[in-house]
Amino acid sequence: MESEQDFSDDKCVILCKGCIKLKPEKIANRIEEAETIILEDCSKDFNLRKDLKYVVFCCPALYHLTEHSAFSKIVDLRLIEKCFKKPEEVAIAWIKSSLIFEPPDVKAVETGYEVIYIGNNSDVISELSENTKLCVITSGEVAEGLYPFRTRVIVPEDDNFSISGEVGNFVVNVKGTDLTTNRKGNFSLKGGQIIFPGSEIKKEGIHTFDDEFRCALNAIKNLGSYLRIEPIEIDFDVCCTSKSGFEGCSLCLSCPSGALLRENGKIRIKGSCTGCGYCSAVCPVSAVKYSIMPSDLLMRKIDAVSSEGKTIAFICEDSLKKLYRMSKGMKKKIPEVLPVVVPCINSISELHYLYAALNGMNVLVFPCDSEHKLTNFEITRKILATFGFDCIRIVEFDNIDIKKLRNPGKILKNVEGKNKREKLFRMINLLMKYPVKKSKIETELFGIVEVNEGCTLCMTCTFFCPTGALRKENETLYFNHGLCIACGLCLACPENVITLNKVLDFEKIGEREIYKDEVLKCPSCGRPHITKSMYEKLSKVSKYSILFCSDCRPKVILEAIYEEMMKEEGEERNE
Ligand code: SF4
Ligand code: SF4
Repeated sequence: MESEQDFSDDKCVILCKGCIKLKPEKIANRIEEAETIILEDCSKDFNLRKDLKYVVFCCPALYHLTEHSAFSKIVDLRLIEKCFKKPEEVAIAWIKSSLIFEPPDVKAVETGYEVIYIGNNSDVISELSENTKLCVITSGEVAEGLYPFRTRVIVPEDDNFSISGEVGNFVVNVKGTDLTTNRKGNFSLKGGQIIFPGSEIKKEGIHTFDDEFRCALNAIKNLGSYLRIEPIEIDFDVCCTSKSGFEGCSLCLSCPSGALLRENGKIRIKGSCTGCGYCSAVCPVSAVKYSIMPSDLLMRKIDAVSSEGKTIAFICEDSLKKLYRMSKGMKKKIPEVLPVVVPCINSISELHYLYAALNGMNVLVFPCDSEHKLTNFEITRKILATFGFDCIRIVEFDNIDIKKLRNPGKILKNVEGKNKREKLFRMINLLMKYPVKKSKIETELFGIVEVNEGCTLCMTCTFFCPTGALRKENETLYFNHGLCIACGLCLACPENVITLNKVLDFEKIGEREIYKDEVLKCPSCGRPHITKSMYEKLSKVSKYSILFCSDCRPKVILEAIYEEMMKEEGEERNE
């Protein structure tokens, strides 16, 4: 894959001799993609060029001490320097993959100035009342100390209050006494943000750190509006469910944080999205854009470290920290790997895993302690195993053996395609030169459609099929296994002659004919115009012959009516 933007003049990598034990010169000599700067000591003042667009700081201290306005990334080499056999090689790969960068899409989130504080810290209340339009839910004891009131103060009757809405538009329903008006009753308080220290609620705009001042500062920082990266964006014209309005594909609805739902025929994102990228990785038609790390960007990161025979390692930030913790007691050093840091393991699709494997690399996944959805990992492992390759593993840092891994070698060529599914099948086609060990894989992700006797070629299935896996040409129905996402929408067939098997069948890859009907000719003009099965079906209900084509039929019907009239007239005359 070609990099779309070449930032080489605008990118910079800063290494500091004081912070890392690795040899910065050795690393810098191998980084050709950006300018490299080696500092003796990061505590000295240092000014960065103003025209830089992207900076990789190889230690967090440098990042915090250096003034800069460029996009930046911390590549904390201290995390890896102790535990790998060849730490410089690992560092170089990590820096190279981190240098592949795209400015993220950001969106302004409106929060307004109204803040609701739920808690009992009078210093925090005082701080907030200076800076925000505040409403406080607090105990009677704390409330007394707030008199004369500069904010609205509610003393709740009990702990049973409810919170609804989203950031910018929260509503807290509470029963109690409003000390500002001295009224008792049920109150609906509105606020753009909520400060609720220690709460277990996880929602954007609700600040729940135990540290009350930290919550308050975050809320003040976000007053009015703030910029955030929209983790995911759904293209409703591409999403199979949203564009048809029918329940079909629902792969993304298995979102690990339950943040997606189907509402009024469309897939909708709720506020509980944690930005793990699972939906984007699992969507077969690339309808979900993952802004934190778009699919193409991850491919380019893989390209940046790609080296036949080596081992690529997908790893997240949390996993890197886990590695650092473990490295202290690690007895055996980890073999050399080429790290690509991802926001979450969930965001890696089967396309990325296969892309790395078909570039001739072994693929390791280092999970953090969170739970992961490994649908994509599993299907990739099974696809590769079908061709006799065992080169993709989920591993723990203290148990890595890469000697036995076997990958297909660098066989990757063109993987262009309009979406993930098309690209995926291009890759599977490249693997088809190897003997297949097992021709079928049971999976929810792929489907095989068969059409049985009785199909009238009415085209209901081709109309509903959202991916173009079914198409009709010259009274023949074609099915492309590669495009079928097993959504089941074609089962709307009015003749009930379609069967769908959820399976990936390597013997049926590509497009093939699945139904062909005899076409009958119009007895009047000789034009072929109706399938035999449609004729048989309609002739049972039609009074006039539908064997005639649409051009000849009116004439034939008129003649039949005329004949009937003549016959009736003749009969009347005879009477
Ligand atoms: S996985 Fe993709 S196509 Fe399927 S419902 Fe979700 S967004 Fe739509
Ligand atoms: S062939 Fe059927 S199951 Fe497959 S994608 Fe089309 S409508 Fe969905």
